[in-house]
Amino acid sequence: MGHREPKPPLPGQGQEKKGPAGDPVHVSGRHGETQIPSFGGGGAVESRLVSPVPQRSGAEVGGTWKDQFADAPDVLKKTPDDEQLVFAGDVVVGGGTFVTMAGPCSVETERQLMATAERVAAAGARILRGGAFKPRSSPYAFQGLGLEGLKLLANARAATGLAIVTEVMAAADAPMVAEYADILQIGSRSMENYALLEAAARTGRPILLKRGMVATVADLLRSAQCIVSYGNPSVMLCERGIRTFETATRNTFDVSAIVVLKEIARLPVIADPSHAAGQRRLVPALARSAVAAGADGLIVEVHPDPDRAWSDGEQSLTLGEFDTMMADLAPWCELRAACSYALETVA
Ligand code: PEP
Ligand code: MN
Repeated sequence: MGHREPKPPLPGQGQEKKGPAGDPVHVSGRHGETQIPSFGGGGAVESRLVSPVPQRSGAEVGGTWKDQFADAPDVLKKTPDDEQLVFAGDVVVGGGTFVTMAGPCSVETERQLMATAERVAAAGARILRGGAFKPRSSPYAFQGLGLEGLKLLANARAATGLAIVTEVMAAADAPMVAEYADILQIGSRSMENYALLEAAARTGRPILLKRGMVATVADLLRSAQCIVSYGNPSVMLCERGIRTFETATRNTFDVSAIVVLKEIARLPVIADPSHAAGQRRLVPALARSAVAAGADGLIVEVHPDPDRAWSDGEQSLTLGEFDTMMADLAPWCELRAACSYALETVA
């Protein structure tokens, strides 16, 4: 092989010119595209950076981080302390307090519901949960008591003063559920049922919107935007765990989603450690992490006799376990409030 003359540069190749900040940037290649400057801000561009494919910097390639949420403009914070408060009965969700919703997965009997309601109220919960219409993995599994369950929930509210959150599964049921409940829950399996979102929104009741188990944060915000667009601003976003390859928990509790939502969204964020964990022993630690991540509240499954529950018994806390979890959470909530205060006074 003989000696080869170096190839003459193609038009625009190998020239140096100044970038916007005065840094030398390399103009390369047959496309004459701008190359990203090497770290160090000057000197020669390393040869491996010189590619025939135009090289651009991060935001030019994938857009900015926030661009992905642009489909939900009314849900995003306009200013850092922009926050939608949600009023349900005499409970306010958002605004720095921590609200707990607790109760059985399904409303089963009057005794079961009343025993749970009285105990969770005494332990500090403000909202009673309980499904009257149940989305189940199997059509043979208990589907809920329906209207009878709604009536039992209303009786429990009358007896304890707790506000009621319960799931609505069909658009046609929304007015009936809204008659009995203070908050309508949209379940994970329904997050993208836009006809249901519309019907729920139009009742005017606050909505607890659960994240679909394979939904991204952007997907969740898009569904929230849909509810807000139908004239209902009172939406709470619920992180309840997502499907991943992990099998040690029923779902993977996405604590980062809570942090992201608190950063970008103006709606309160509620954590559901029960459906994330799938095992009651794991629930209190996930609840603590939700407090630390900045959630505005929890929704937790509790049952007087979880081993005999008609649904989700393995992940339901006993009444005693719920008492303990609430007592243990109190200092974490106080610490968070103290830290927020310290941050505000520094800022
Ligand atoms: C529930 O809250 O009981 C429930 C079915 O939750 P998810 O929609 O998150 O599965
Ligand atoms: Mn459940």
